Amino acid sequence: MYCTKCGTQIGNELKCPNCGQPVQPVAQAPLPTVPAYIVWSILATLFCCLPGGVVAIIYSAMVGSKLAANDYEGALKASKKAKLWCWLSFGIGLAMQLIVTAIYVIMMFVCISQKDSSVLHL
Ligand SMILES: [Zn+2]
Repeated sequence: MYCTKCGTQIGNELKCPNCGQPVQPVAQAPLPTVPAYIVWSILATLFCCLPGGVVAIIYSAMVGSKLAANDYEGALKASKKAKLWCWLSFGIGLAMQLIVTAIYVIMMFVCISQKDSSVLHL
């Protein structure tokens, strides 16, 4: 720790040995919380895309373990990857839904048109 007034290094004294400035324990600036996106990851797994959601859950879990290991940078990276995979799963899930719906609609039209032609042939 260093004196805020003169910059002298201070051990455990309550006053600066150089200038007498009372030493205030420097409160560690709390680091911003790292969002884990665990809820979004689970939702993405359940409703969007299972493989992508599982990757998101793994990164979400990594955020917690990295924070526990005081690896703030690592936690931040894992958090960003969890968010990315949530969006990817959401996008893939949405695309799959659109494709399935499109196939369903096409098949319906095929069935209807076949029915019509069979009616015409009768
Ligand atoms: Zn001082």
